[in-house]
Amino acid sequence: SSGREPVTATLFPGDGVGPEISDRVVEIFEAAKVPIKWDVQIVGKEVDPRTNSFISRENLDSVLKNRIGLKAPMATPIGKGFRSLNLTLRKELQLYANVRPCLSIPGYKTRYDNIDLVTIRENTEGEYSGLEHEVVPGVVESLKIITRVASTRVAEFAFEYARKHNRRKVTAVHKANIMKLADGLFIKCCREVSERYPEIEYEEMIVDNTCMQLVSRPSQFDVMCMPNLYGDIISDLCAGLIGGLGLTPSGNIGTNGLALMEAVHGTAPDIVGQNKANPTAMLLSGVMMLRHINLSKEADMIEKACLDTIAEGKYLTRDLGGKSGTTDFTKAIIGALDD
Ligand code: NAD
Repeated sequence: SSGREPVTATLFPGDGVGPEISDRVVEIFEAAKVPIKWDVQIVGKEVDPRTNSFISRENLDSVLKNRIGLKAPMATPIGKGFRSLNLTLRKELQLYANVRPCLSIPGYKTRYDNIDLVTIRENTEGEYSGLEHEVVPGVVESLKIITRVASTRVAEFAFEYARKHNRRKVTAVHKANIMKLADGLFIKCCREVSERYPEIEYEEMIVDNTCMQLVSRPSQFDVMCMPNLYGDIISDLCAGLIGGLGLTPSGNIGTNGLALMEAVHGTAPDIVGQNKANPTAMLLSGVMMLRHINLSKEADMIEKACLDTIAEGKYLTRDLGGKSGTTDFTKAIIGALDD
């Protein structure tokens, strides 16, 4: 162990396979002697009038107090009159950036084996501002909002991330040739921020070309920074490039370093309670969390044990083409941890 005082982190075990994979992460963290104390938060079955959501005030306060958390997937309740869980978290915690590292996993064969990129998506505005109206029958107007404040904030996060993680380049993705004002402002802000980071290479790329470059030569990319809609699409494209849902972690970043990490996948209702879920995406989200609070030694050790276990190929879950259950895969990871 690092000998550090334990850090308290919020844990949402979530729904569906969420509790199964959360338990495995807790188990692996314990085996690795990570100095973390979990503040477990269960999302209620009733709407909290203070939040107008199933996410209660206490749930939110836990993250606001600890400023760091790990979240398993949550089932979206169907019904009207309340806010979706993820929207509540994003708005109340002001999670303005979504970060997804995409790393080729040795031993899990995909079309490319040399991908190591990170997508950073602006998460509060753009096409997702929710401002739509019908002007006259048959004509709808949908507003795309781009502000200097939000664009600069996400660009600063991208460059700080690049610096902290020893990355060499940031690519701003845009369509400023068509959306001259909106995307024009976005890249202007990125360009201004880039001038404060002379050691990091900066480039701009039009989104359609970016898609073609990603599927034909993904290794050219390092950190990518983009407005909301392009980020939504491109981050999923990148998850597909490295082998999909069971493997992809993500982080949601708020002001003053608050962060809530989560697997990209959902609650996998078709395999709940069958010991089939792959805990990798949740575990690697935990690894991101450790790096965020500067527990890098523990993060590196756990990541290595997980990747080595996949590379060895003896104890893979079904989604990776193996026959092992969640628990045996977890045991193998614990066995691969070095002291
Ligand atoms: P899903 O990701 O749950 O499942 C899609 C497919 O991938 C399924 O076949 C599933 O078995 C498989 N899969 C997903 N994660 C896996 C894992 N860790 N290991 C092995 N296989 C895995 O997507 P869905 O079916 O569209 O959504 C189910 C529920 O999850 C919905 O209620 C949805 O709202 C919710 N959801 C939540 C989040 C979140 O909380 N962030 C994200 C996406 C979906």
